[in-house]
Amino acid sequence: MSHQDRSYEVVIVGAGAAGLSAAVMLGRSKRRVLVISLRNRRNSPADRVNNVPFAHGTAPADVYAKMESDATAYGVGFVWDAALTARATEGGVSVTTRDSGTFHGERLVLATGPRDELPAWIPEEEWGRSVFDCPYCHTREHDGAAFVAVGAGTETLQHALLCRQYASSLTALVSDADSARGDLAVRLLKAGAQVHADTVVSATTRDGGGLLLVTAAGRELSAGAVVLDTAIQKPNTLLPSALGLELNPHGFPRTTLFGRTSHPRVYNTGKSNPSSPYFAWTGAAASGLNAARAVCEDIAFG
Ligand SMILES: Cc1cc2nc3c(=O)[nH]c(=O)nc-3n(C[C@H](O)[C@H](O)[C@H](O)COP(=O)(O)OP(=O)(O)OC[C@H]3O[C@@H](n4cnc5c(N)ncnc54)[C@H](O)[C@@H]3O)c2cc1C
Repeated sequence: MSHQDRSYEVVIVGAGAAGLSAAVMLGRSKRRVLVISLRNRRNSPADRVNNVPFAHGTAPADVYAKMESDATAYGVGFVWDAALTARATEGGVSVTTRDSGTFHGERLVLATGPRDELPAWIPEEEWGRSVFDCPYCHTREHDGAAFVAVGAGTETLQHALLCRQYASSLTALVSDADSARGDLAVRLLKAGAQVHADTVVSATTRDGGGLLLVTAAGRELSAGAVVLDTAIQKPNTLLPSALGLELNPHGFPRTTLFGRTSHPRVYNTGKSNPSSPYFAWTGAAASGLNAARAVCEDIAFG
């Protein structure tokens, strides 16, 4: 199969954890597969991946290079380009890219991940280094640092409690004043943390690492690690809206556990609501495998 081919059994958009997991499984299943993607994955700013079996501590770029090489070995083609729009009819799907033209398939797997909408105060180089939205993936690497959890309310206080064992000092800044007086706040105060109804307005990188945060109430806080809430993760709506997919109340495509969407030829992977079973990198990979399985079964069973 030449990568110049324009027609495939499965077109996957997105070469992250979900898309590459699906690509390897579909390639091994002897399906003609094309992956269209940009190179920037959600965790690309981080130095290493954690909590990913067999890849713990590896640089994200090395994990993706290995997965791409596995997929290529099974005949999967790659086009490194932006998918601008997509179409799905009863007869098939097509994806139009910015610079490489239009590709056709019998089925389409969307694996474009969420879109991170970051607060403007985060210095660009600090996202994925001292600022995260997960209390599990990189907090251990900041053991002994001053932790600040920033966000709206309940989830921020939960993140603060989950970081407590690493923190030399712990502060939660919540924009919702009621949350700052609620049960979780009391629990944090009893644990020696500070809780304020306040929000960050600016941040600068400190010499030696971490951030100096300035808040709306005029506080100045030194932070070795800042944990945001997951509300920064927004649905990537470009292709779902072009395809007219039904959305769930969170704005992500409505899917079954196996990624089937409202269009019988289109599958969607990844986290799609706050209580999704697809948690973090390995969860995204699992959802890619589930979608690949649905594709295989739909092709085989009709
Ligand atoms: C800073 C940071 C660090 C993290 N560290 C960890 C960790 O250590 N361990 C862990 O378990 N989880 C970690 N995570 C979470 C993990 O990265 C995500 O859960 C996982 O990457 C989601 O995988 P995905 O395949 O759904 O999306 P992604 O990995 O984001 O992949 C989506 C792909 O689609 C591409 N794409 C999107 N739109 C288009 C388009 N229109 N055209 C072409 N391509 C497109 C993107 O460029 C990307 O290549 C981290 C997250 C962040 C933000």
